[in-house]
Amino acid sequence: MTSDDTTMHERVALRLDAHCSRLLACRRCLHGPDVRPIVARTRSPRAMLIGQAPGRVEAGGGRPFAGRAGATLFSWLAEAGMDEATAREWLYIAAVTRCYPGPHPSGRGDRVPGRAERRECSDWLDAELEIIRPPVIVLVGRLAMERFLDPRPLDALVGQEHEVSHAGGRSVAIPLPHPSGASSWIHAPGHRALLHDALALLRGRLATGAPVRGAA
Ligand code: SF4
Repeated sequence: MTSDDTTMHERVALRLDAHCSRLLACRRCLHGPDVRPIVARTRSPRAMLIGQAPGRVEAGGGRPFAGRAGATLFSWLAEAGMDEATAREWLYIAAVTRCYPGPHPSGRGDRVPGRAERRECSDWLDAELEIIRPPVIVLVGRLAMERFLDPRPLDALVGQEHEVSHAGGRSVAIPLPHPSGASSWIHAPGHRALLHDALALLRGRLATGAPVRGAA
């Protein structure tokens, strides 16, 4: 790593520190007093992972993907060459919305954040994309895919790479299904093979160890 790279990484880390402090204080959506935004901890990511919204386990301000869905996600990411600790270091974990949206009215799983919440929260993600300028973004679940890709069935998106544009420039996007038990997509014939393909693509992308580009 050259001294220019070191300076760039330090600059990214400082900007992420300042960004996460502001994000932690966000109360735009007036969730309950115990619901706080969830922020990523890594300051030297190789890529970004963008989920849907935190679940009940994370609601009090814990780590992203700390619950059962997270355990499934990290078991998938192991196939891409990362144990959980490595994944948390290499991947800046963001989401379409950052606060627990509450239970789904049906009682099964969590409520899906509405369009207004997604719009309200979107500038936090834009700012992170602009700071990190990730070469690779992993899109976990349909809401994250909808943020970057034209709407298509999951089996037309998972298992492939997609060039996407965003506030930080261009990235390769690798979609994954949502790991929550509420999604049955993974159990349909052929879908697990698509997941394996996606994880092989991610493994290949991360194996180069390409650093984040960071903003100038
Ligand atoms: S969901 Fe996003 S915009 Fe709404 S309060 Fe949480 S961090 Fe702020």
